[in-house]
This record gives sequence, structure tokens and C-alpha cells, in this order.
Amino acid sequence: MEKTRENYLAWLRDAHAMEEQALTMMQGMASRLENYPQLRVRIESHIAETREQAAALATLLQRKGSGTSLVKDTLGKMTAFAQSLSGMFTDDNVVKGTLAGFAFENMEIASYRILITAAEQMGDAEAVAVFTRCLKQEEAMAEWLADHSPGITRSFLSRAELDMPAHR
Ligand code: MG
Ligand code: FE
Repeated sequence: MEKTRENYLAWLRDAHAMEEQALTMMQGMASRLENYPQLRVRIESHIAETREQAAALATLLQRKGSGTSLVKDTLGKMTAFAQSLSGMFTDDNVVKGTLAGFAFENMEIASYRILITAAEQMGDAEAVAVFTRCLKQEEAMAEWLADHSPGITRSFLSRAELDMPAHR
């Protein structure tokens, strides 16, 4: 069980870092969006959810007896995959931002599915409930982005045709 606990905590730390990274990327993107108000509103509401997710994961990490240092360790750390997406988030091009957002949400979905399985192995019902709540929020965000991607792409293309500021 000791190895399971180690793996579980490592994945939990990674997920916390992932949420901190999500916050940075979405805040940057929302602040630049001018011509896509629906997308901006949806991102802002997911920023609020993401803040709660990061706080909930930090609480779990602290409760695991690992102390706050564990939480601090994760700040600023990013997986290579998240790093590759962050360039697209900071790009002014809203289509690339939407692509990066969809990919990021799906990484979050995969992470929470893994964490749910590990928490079940640990018999940690409280954590399973937290991860399940997060998973539903990520699935809803991924679905929203998938549903709205055609409309965003069409707006982008028609603005570009009209030589209007198309990118953000
Ligand atoms: Mg999240
Ligand atoms: Fe998310």
C-alpha cells in the first residue's frame, strides 16, 4: 500500500500543478478576448471553478499529512504537455486558444479519472467525491468548447475575410 500511496500523492501533486497552470493560462486568454464574449464568459466561469478545484486539491494534499511544502512544491511546475499548450494559450489567435483549451480540458479529464481510481484503491471516499466533482466540471467545459468550436472558427474566418481584427 505504501507504493500506492506514493503514486497517489505524486498524481495529486501533478493535478494541483495542472490546475494552477490552467488558472494562469485561462486568465491570460480571457483578458485578451475582445470579440468573443460568449467564450470569455464561459472561460471566466471555469476560472472560478478552477480556483475551487485548486483549493480542494491543496486541502487534500495537506490532509494527507504531507504539509504545505508539498503544495508549494507544485507551484510553477508544469508537465511538458501543458508547456506545449501554454504557447497556444498565449497566442492572440482565438482558434489556437480554443484548440489548446479543448486539449487541456481532456488532459484534466484523464487526470481525474486516474485519481478517482487511485483514491478508490486507497479507500479514500472523500477524495473520490472531490475528484468526481472536478471531473464533471472538466467534462462540461470540454463539451462546451467542442460545441462552440465551429461557431468560433466561423466568426474568426469571417472577421478575417472582412479585414476586421479577427484574432481575439
Ligand atoms: Mg480543472
Ligand atoms: Fe478545466
